[in-house]
Amino acid sequence: MGRVLIIGCGGVASVAIQKCCQNSEVFEEICIASRTVSKCDALKAKIENTTKTKITTAQLDADNTDDIIALINEYKPDAVLNLALPYQDLTIMDACLATKTHYIDTANYEPKDTAKFEYSWQWAYRERFKEAGITAILGSGFDPGVTSVFSAYALKHHFDEINYIDILDCNGGDHGYPFATNFNPEINIREVSAKGSYWENGYWVETEPMEIKRVYNFDEVGEKDMYLLHHEEIESLALNIPGIKRIRFFMTFGQSYLTHLKCLENVGMTSIEPIMFEGKEIIPLQFLKAVLPDPASLGPRTVGKTNIGCIFQGKKDGKEKTYYLYNVCDHQECYKELGSQAISYTTGVPAMIGTMLVLKGLWNKPGVYNLEELDPDPFMEALNKWGLPWKESFNPELVD
Ligand code: NDP
Repeated sequence: MGRVLIIGCGGVASVAIQKCCQNSEVFEEICIASRTVSKCDALKAKIENTTKTKITTAQLDADNTDDIIALINEYKPDAVLNLALPYQDLTIMDACLATKTHYIDTANYEPKDTAKFEYSWQWAYRERFKEAGITAILGSGFDPGVTSVFSAYALKHHFDEINYIDILDCNGGDHGYPFATNFNPEINIREVSAKGSYWENGYWVETEPMEIKRVYNFDEVGEKDMYLLHHEEIESLALNIPGIKRIRFFMTFGQSYLTHLKCLENVGMTSIEPIMFEGKEIIPLQFLKAVLPDPASLGPRTVGKTNIGCIFQGKKDGKEKTYYLYNVCDHQECYKELGSQAISYTTGVPAMIGTMLVLKGLWNKPGVYNLEELDPDPFMEALNKWGLPWKESFNPELVD
């Protein structure tokens, strides 16, 4: 059916690429392009004899729009799947505009020098994508991504009006290290050390990092401490879910992770301000990333499950209603199937699904969209088929 250029070859990309290769009818050809081409070649060598998908590789610096344009013009993909870092979103969107190619990513743009993520930069492309007749799908991972699709599905099938959404992201996995992050350490630490916030009655309420704590009993995982964070899907859901009064996002963290993070913060290791070290300018957080375990290496050591989903409260036929949609994913099962842990798996599978729906023309609509703006049904069906089956509950424990 189509040909896709996939940019980035880290933990998430490794899963998305292998899933594309399980789905060769749709992904007939892929080109894996990243900064370190040896990683692309190694992944190609691992999977090319197991799939009908034709795989090529390329070296690419995705900070450079002209280089991306040149590669798109040479390879002529139907869509570009961006699985590099949030810093590259705009250069890749510019290249897609210049070549009239569809665009899909999993995380919103973040400038390198400010730990701040918001959609304004990417939403500013709406008119230009519409005029060019191409589609951009923003945030096709799990959260954002599946949580956005869950919200659209709940609204379409279970509610006349949704008033409250609590997104709960639980990682009950244990990798045995005192401190490691499950996806890119730099992006992860920027996210969790930022101030928290939630949306209520039309306003943002800001909190100190990790100020709000709750305990929740997760299906198939058990009781965990979870903390309120700012998270990117809150921003778009607040605009796209009519009647919404409050949206919060909670993520679980163990005490060891929090103690290490506090200590690293206190000594300045999580800072993104450049410092001079032995005559060379370095950024402490980037140095920290270099000494932490590579998230892609956690697969064989991680046991336990993730449980990520949304609790909705609202009204149906004039009556109050509560509904919980979630997915449980087992780290070891993911490792057995693809050699990855569940965080990469739960992000890589939706990245493949979003791209597939664009290629099939089901999510092909000129403009720039967050996932809750599109029909959730084909995505929900694909989650069950491609390894992330969802569960539902009509009487869940609520978060106070
Ligand atoms: P990794 O660090 O493992 O992989 C990033 C990849 O991008 C690496 O292959 C890296 O190359 C490549 N890359 C970085 N900069 C450039 C560049 N300038 N040009 C070309 N390639 C580049 O990250 P993850 O796989 O953990 O995360 C990937 C994305 O997924 C991130 O944007 C992250 O925020 C997002 N994410 C989204 C989630 C969701 O649920 N929505 C959850 C988890 C992650 P090199 O190998 O040379 O370093």
